[in-house]
Amino acid sequence: MDKVIGIDLGTFNSCVSVVEGGTPVVIANRGGYKVTPSMVAVTEAGKRLVGHIAKRQAVTNAENTVYAAKRLIGRKFDTPQVKNAIATCPYRIVEGPHGDCRIQLRDKVYSIPEISAMVLQEMKMIAEDYLGHEVTKAVVTVPAYFNDGQRQATKDAGQIAGLDVIRIINEPTAGALAYGFGKNIDRTVAVYDLGGGTFDISILEISSAGVFKVVSTAGDTFLGGEDFDQRIIDWLVQGFREEHDIDLRQDRMALQRLKDAAEKAKCELSAVMETEVNLPFIISSPRNEALHLQQLLTRAQLEELTQDLVERTVQICEMTLDEAGLEKDEIEDVVLVGGMTRMPRVQQAVSEFFEREPCKGVHPDEVVGLGASIQGAALVDDSKELDMVLLDVTPHTLGIMVAGGFFEELIQQNSTVPTSDSKPFTTVRDNQTAVKILVLQGESKKADENELLGEFILTGLRRAPAGQIEVDVTFEINADGIVSVHAKDTETGKEQSITVTATSGLTQDEIDLMMQEASEYAVARRGDEESEGVKQQAETLIAEIQKLFPEVEAVVAGSDFGRDAIEKARAVVDRARMLMDRNDSAGLKEQIDALTRTQRMFKGVVGKSA
Ligand code: AMP
Repeated sequence: MDKVIGIDLGTFNSCVSVVEGGTPVVIANRGGYKVTPSMVAVTEAGKRLVGHIAKRQAVTNAENTVYAAKRLIGRKFDTPQVKNAIATCPYRIVEGPHGDCRIQLRDKVYSIPEISAMVLQEMKMIAEDYLGHEVTKAVVTVPAYFNDGQRQATKDAGQIAGLDVIRIINEPTAGALAYGFGKNIDRTVAVYDLGGGTFDISILEISSAGVFKVVSTAGDTFLGGEDFDQRIIDWLVQGFREEHDIDLRQDRMALQRLKDAAEKAKCELSAVMETEVNLPFIISSPRNEALHLQQLLTRAQLEELTQDLVERTVQICEMTLDEAGLEKDEIEDVVLVGGMTRMPRVQQAVSEFFEREPCKGVHPDEVVGLGASIQGAALVDDSKELDMVLLDVTPHTLGIMVAGGFFEELIQQNSTVPTSDSKPFTTVRDNQTAVKILVLQGESKKADENELLGEFILTGLRRAPAGQIEVDVTFEINADGIVSVHAKDTETGKEQSITVTATSGLTQDEIDLMMQEASEYAVARRGDEESEGVKQQAETLIAEIQKLFPEVEAVVAGSDFGRDAIEKARAVVDRARMLMDRNDSAGLKEQIDALTRTQRMFKGVVGKSA
């Protein structure tokens, strides 16, 4: 049976997990870390770096290092959120051919799904290294509040990375799955998920029969740890300006250092009451003096700077409870998910609001990835312990634009998915052969205030007097939360399947090309890894042979045969060194046999003489 991996594709960190022998486990990367930064960089030499190695060089290569691409996925260039990102990100965000946003790294422009695909591909490789075989299937998580465009773009990212994303699930739901898995409980729980970039809250009913039913969900896809960091940055920048009359934001390198320092200070303040932000040589004054930044930040100050952000999450919790029609005391447990829930003020706000201590025992960084792998295993494995049903909801209302620019609702927010609804459309003019339909997602009564998912034109209608043609259009949201539309001529029964072409999505041709490039990268990267492995093996063998040379010479140099053997061994080592200098990986691989024989022979000689 194919193993399905679960990937928590986070704004700042990603985590991959798999179910083994009925237990979900988080897979560590080569460095031994269970989470990998969702960062991608391109070096001056054109080399792609992903994860920790991208993070390590971010300060010196800020313009070509992408972080938080998830904040841009599925978004149009011309939106306030993207404008805000352009103003604060050190990398270049440019407009793509479909009104989407793209990122320029060195001389190449990448779509956001392509950047996310690089992270997914890295997670895929981490899993493959661990499992020892190729992995093609995955469940990927997204914030519950992601709309259709963002979900579709995440699926595209999976496809580019060479993964068949068998299901997209919501992060808080994944958190609840990991929390309730194997517990056999009947409980109503709230999952409070504050990560690096997004906030989600979901209320679920978990039953001992293995049903995980989401009752309501809400969130904000632009509220997370980065906003907390930004408050610290603003405060530091302002203090520096008051002192030196210099705007640190003008300097990309300084800005990146500030970002790192702000995040570090924020995390430290979860454990201690005060910390010093110390950035020597942050910038030069107009008179070319080196200036330093040194500021003490207390936990109380941080809490004051970010009070409204915490309050906003609490307001969203209140809304969600209302939507669910539940009182606070009906919530039996609160699960905290996401790195930001380590902040004491966040924990305090959550316990004050729900009037109970959040449950301990789930790891906020790993729980979403674990839940994704549980869902993945349940989808392919029908063994008893994985017998469970996940019933999620759609976070946004789906509808169409009608006369007067109004929004007519078809599928209500918080409806259980999969779900569908049909609506009849009639022609309004004689001989009308086409009808244009705009599909939107959102909560406003005005169509233009909602997210346009796409538009489609029903064509090929029979010529007939106005009002005589009736077409039944079915709007469907699948278990991934992705929208599709079908139309049927009620009289002839003729069906048309219409894809809602996401206005900011990629075309299949573009995806195919990106897939091709990603797969070439995977082959080259595996090749590089193999060469590196061969090189290391050769170096170890040479070092061992070198070490034994004096002893072996002392034993065998007395005979012609021995001298000949020594000569040959030297030639073997010299040739291996020459191949290494030339970077001839294939040649070196062949030479490993000769090196191994020589090393064994040397060990034999030394062993016998001992
Ligand atoms: P996630 O998206 O769940 O990986 O969460 C990442 C966010 O959690 C980032 O904004 C981190 O700065 C933040 N974070 C991680 N550890 C801590 C901590 N100890 N205290 C406060 N925030 C943290």
